[in-house]
Order: sequence, then structure tokens, then C-alpha cells
Amino acid sequence: MRCMTPASTGPVSTGPVPIGPDLLACISRRAQTMTASAIREILKITQQPDVISFAGGLPAPELFPLDAVRQAAETALSKYGPAALQYSTTEGHLPLREWIAGRHGIPAANVQIVTGSQQGLDLLGKILIDEGDLVLVEAPTYLGALQSFQPYLPRYAEMPTDEGGIDVDALATLLAGLAAQGEKPKLLYAIPNFQNPTGRTLSLERRRRLVELTAQYGVLVIEDDPYGQLRFSGEALPSLYEIGLELAGDVDRNHVIYSSSFSKTLVPGLRDAWVEAAAPVITKLIQAKQGADLHTPTLNQMMITELLPLLPAQIETVKAAYRERGAHMLSQMDEFFPAGVTYTRPQGGMFLWVTLPEGVDTVALLPRAVENKVAYVPGQPFFALGGGANTMRMSYSSATPEQITQGMRALGATFREALG
Ligand code: PMP
Repeated sequence: MRCMTPASTGPVSTGPVPIGPDLLACISRRAQTMTASAIREILKITQQPDVISFAGGLPAPELFPLDAVRQAAETALSKYGPAALQYSTTEGHLPLREWIAGRHGIPAANVQIVTGSQQGLDLLGKILIDEGDLVLVEAPTYLGALQSFQPYLPRYAEMPTDEGGIDVDALATLLAGLAAQGEKPKLLYAIPNFQNPTGRTLSLERRRRLVELTAQYGVLVIEDDPYGQLRFSGEALPSLYEIGLELAGDVDRNHVIYSSSFSKTLVPGLRDAWVEAAAPVITKLIQAKQGADLHTPTLNQMMITELLPLLPAQIETVKAAYRERGAHMLSQMDEFFPAGVTYTRPQGGMFLWVTLPEGVDTVALLPRAVENKVAYVPGQPFFALGGGANTMRMSYSSATPEQITQGMRALGATFREALG
């Protein structure tokens, strides 16, 4: 089919424009690879009022610091006047960039503010991925990253994972095998802390090895870390970015790119997040962001900056709630889930990952769960290359104790039926 068949070859008509089904043929090849998120379609059936859903991944709204946000808007408006509502620099609000840069002891010039880390992923895809480039992703990985990268037409290779996240020995074998075939992956995308969707965390030894291996093979790393601050048990670990910085000895030679966000620590609706990277990456990010949205909303960045003094206490509040909700979900799973069903025990973040015995299909099981008034996200869409039919993601971040108890009981019953 051709894009827009001309209506006639005669003089330009002032009548209705001849729009028809052939407009579909005008959609670019890159946009044709975009699909409605599989999850959105699946989740339509879960949106009945009496169904307890653990499918969404929303931060707890009752914890949003509403009064402080209102106050921050007022302070920003009085402090900056009309400048709070004016166009501003693409790089972002300097006091905010300076604060972010201070966490890793790098110059503010290496920090780019983005409109949600989702935008950061899209822009990184845009500036880094050429059609056909090989991108290494965890199996499973964050679906939103696959959606961001897909229009830039990469090929994916999955890194094997186990209970400790990316299996770095398997990664070493994978990289050596690819090198033997003359293949060099362009980049590796990883979520080392409380991964979405599994809740798993990469150990310090594995982090070091991953950074060393990727440096050795010349593979860029995108470290996506929206949950790192939300550790509610165990010891904080250095980021891949920090390890890369140590290895490179120079902020502009670090092959690790860091992405994080205020969405999970403060509020997601202000869409404030950032990327830290070496100068050549930042320079291109600025140019790409100019084409995308010129800059992240000025007032929002100023509000976030005003909220920074509140951030440590807010993080404690959020962590305490997620610690309690996560522990309660696990205790109810222990009580109600049949033998043969396994699940991760996250040390932070918002998600855990359930694996059923081989042969159970969680997409097929979902309507039955919904009949039992409980919902989850099937795991399969989180795999770049398919698989994972017997897995599911559960979110505990915005559920009450009663919903968790009732939901796990219903899910346990659903599993028992499925397992006979
Ligand atoms: N990365 C990961 C791993 C996420 O889980 C999310 C949010 N679900 C994002 C990025 C995007 O977050 P935001 O755009 O709100 O910063």
C-alpha cells in the first residue's frame, strides 16, 4: 500500500482532504515497530472495582508530601518570579544539577535533567542506538526500557540472570562468544538495585565484574537506578557508575551512564529525573533533548529543588511503608502459596517476582485470578526475547495490609486450582 494516493492530478481542490486507510502506510518503519504495551491490554481485565490489583507499579499516593509540594510551589514562585514560568536551559536548573552532581562528586556539567527517567531512556536510545546495534538486557528487564529503545531498531541479546540478578560468569561467556563471532554489543542496560520487575539486587562482586567486563569489551553501560534510595534491608552498595568512575579515574572517560529519578522518592507527577554521563554523551543528550521538549518544566525543577531538604525524611517514610508492606506480602505468600511456587525477597523497591512450576501460563491464569478478585502482571512481556510464561510481577507499594492478606489468599487459591 502507498502512502496517501493523490486524489487527482487536477488543480488543488479546496474540498475535504483525501484521508483514507492508506494513511497507515505513511507511518514510519520505526513507528510501525511500536505496539500498544502488551501489559496495558492484559490489564484491562483487571480494572474491575472489586479486584485487588498488585499489577500496577505506582508509588504510594498517600505518602506524597502534598503540603510541602504546595509550599514548594509558592516558595519557587516568590523566589524566582516570572522566571519560574519562563523557558529555561535545556541542561536544567543549576542548583538542582549541583545537588545531584554532589552525590557522586562530579561537576554539574555532567548532569542532564530529563522529564522523567523514561525520557532519559528514550534520549539515550536516540543518541546511542543505530539500527541493528546489539543491546544486552537482563532477562527479564524493565518493559519501559524496551519500549524506549525499540523505535531505534536494536537487536537484543539477553543476559542470563539468577537469584542474584545478572549472572556475570554467563555474561563473560556471552561476551567472549560474541567477540569470537566478531560481534561487539553497543550497550548493556541494567537495573542493579531492586530491579523492576524482579526486585533482585546485584552483589558488589558482580557489580565490579560487570563494570570490568564491559570496559574490557568496550560496551557502554546504562545503569537505571530509580529505586536505589529505597533500600529497606541490607547494606547500601556502590553504583556501577561509581565503580566505573573509580576505574576510569575521570568523569569524562566513565563508560557507565547513570539514570535516576525523583519519581519514587518524592513524586512521579512532576516528571523530574536526571542522567549523569561523560561529556560526549551529555553534549548529544542536550541536543536530543532540545528537539524533544527544549527543557523539563522550569517550575517543577525549582519545586523539586525546594523539596530537597525534605528528601531524607521523605525517603525514610517511603522505605518504612514499603518495608512493612513487602514483609507482609512475603509472610502471606509463605502462608497461602502452595509448594512449588517460589518468589524473590527484595531488599528494597516496590516489586517482587513469583515463579510458578514450568507449564503454568500466567497469562492464561489471569482471568481465573480476576474471578477470584485478585490481579498481577504476567511476567512474559518483561522478556525481550520471549519466555517466562510461568512468572509474574507483584507490587506491594500501594496496597493496604488487608488487601495484601485477602489478595494473597485469593492468589494462593488460584494457584492451587491451577496446580490441581
Ligand atoms: N526505569 C525503571 C526501572 C522504572 O521502573 C521506571 C518507572 N516505572 C522508570 C525507569 C521511569 O520512571 P520515571 O520516568 O518516572 O522517572
